[in-house]
Amino acid sequence: MKEVVAGVDIGGTNTKIGFVDAEGVIHAEGRLSTPDYAFADDFVAGLDEKLKEMLAGNHDLKLIGIGIGAPNANYHKGTIELAPNLRWKGIVPLARITDRKTGLRTRITNDANAAALGEMIFGAAKEVRDFIILTLGTGLGSGIVIDGEVVYGHTGFAGELGHMTVVEGGRVCGCGRRGCLETYASATGLVRTVLHMLSDRREDSPLRELKNSEITSRRVAEAAAAGDIIAQKALDETARMIALGIANSVIFSSPEVIYLFGGLAQAGDAIFTPVRKYAAELVQPVFRDTFRVEPSGLPEAQAAILGASALIWKEVKQDYRGRAYMQDHPDQEDE
Ligand SMILES: [Zn+2]
Repeated sequence: MKEVVAGVDIGGTNTKIGFVDAEGVIHAEGRLSTPDYAFADDFVAGLDEKLKEMLAGNHDLKLIGIGIGAPNANYHKGTIELAPNLRWKGIVPLARITDRKTGLRTRITNDANAAALGEMIFGAAKEVRDFIILTLGTGLGSGIVIDGEVVYGHTGFAGELGHMTVVEGGRVCGCGRRGCLETYASATGLVRTVLHMLSDRREDSPLRELKNSEITSRRVAEAAAAGDIIAQKALDETARMIALGIANSVIFSSPEVIYLFGGLAQAGDAIFTPVRKYAAELVQPVFRDTFRVEPSGLPEAQAAILGASALIWKEVKQDYRGRAYMQDHPDQEDE
């Protein structure tokens, strides 16, 4: 029997499930429509049924736990709290409900912390003890790892670098404040920068032919690659804001590597080259050349499932190591 963990990625539209082994190979995949379930209990019943169905088709697999990545998840409490994109209102003790229903060890964390765990267990950070991952999508998510552990903080919600203020009184943010990093340094932030530049500058641009709603980060990256000046300047400005966020974060935890993940990171050198340049310029001199900015080592399509499963695999691997240590040092048993 091969041991696998169910990695569960809960999104507003879809919940993706994958059976992940200790090496990060996905053996079976499934899907639930999240909004079909008005209550968390119904969702967990649906999840339990789906897991059984997936196991029925894979008799050689043994399910040993469930790791869940979800918006507004609290690792300490095992809850999802006030998630705006989910139907389940208030504070939902999802880990406990799932644990009871399935009898399996269940852990939950938010998407960006799951990405950090995935990077640590299966990705580019296997040998890195101190790193930060920035997920550049609709918003900017982040996972901070210090000495091999994800930082959750007193509340369980630590490490929301997307909401550090980088421009006082700046752009309105979904969190109700102004000038947060993610209003500039995200796919959405890039589009906001383009829209501002289109009204503020006079250069011709193919982006002027598009309706505002048709301008996406991908289209901007394509226009920049084709030589469009406004797109290039917007991408450069976005890179500078990402670098400002990095420069501020480096002072806080002195990471060895900053990994960039998600839609914007797919732009490759067009984003990495200016981010590295500005980060070196903006960081406090004592930290210059002490950190690297690199792409995530996880495939975009599987990262969420791998990261969620890593919640359990990290614990299991620590258990294994603990047991092996006890076998080698039996005299330590009583300490
Ligand atoms: Zn904010």
